[in-house]
Amino acid sequence: MKIILNNIPEEGLNLQFHKDSDWFRNLLPKKEKNDFSLRDVDVSCIAKRIRENVFIDGALETVVASHCCRCLEITQLPVKSSFRYTFVPAKEGDAEEEELTPEDLECGYFQDDVIDLDTIIFEQIILQIPMKVLCADTCKGLCPHCGNNLNTSSCRCHADFINERLAVLKKLKVSDNK
Ligand SMILES: [Zn+2]
Ligand SMILES: [Zn+2]
Repeated sequence: MKIILNNIPEEGLNLQFHKDSDWFRNLLPKKEKNDFSLRDVDVSCIAKRIRENVFIDGALETVVASHCCRCLEITQLPVKSSFRYTFVPAKEGDAEEEELTPEDLECGYFQDDVIDLDTIIFEQIILQIPMKVLCADTCKGLCPHCGNNLNTSSCRCHADFINERLAVLKKLKVSDNK
């Protein structure tokens, strides 16, 4: 989705659109393709133009599917975010004099009177995905001994482990009391 500067009317340009999961997958760097996937994305935004600058106000909604970092099950993460960007035309040669820096996420440059909305939306979605995805704060994870998912069933590993420790302790106690 691209916004052409000259297509923005005085009262602003309202945009509502829908992207499917392929759209996101194609924007992802190759190595991250298997880390998570996305359901459809709904975006609504308004673009306003004041002199040669463009202001974009918008909101997006989607569901991200990723592996829980504890139990490795696929978990659905609802994502809702609103964003606001200011775009100024990129000028050649005097980049150093610009007040805005590329580090400033909410600001961008546009070239040839075209603003690429896809990049903004992609960036916003990535920002909403936590570094460590959890299916629930209370996720018990996998048993380190047998790999069993402790959320859905229990295994005897933990109890056995405790019993072994107790047995060792008992033996120690016995020898202490001699
Ligand atoms: Zn989990
Ligand atoms: Zn186990």
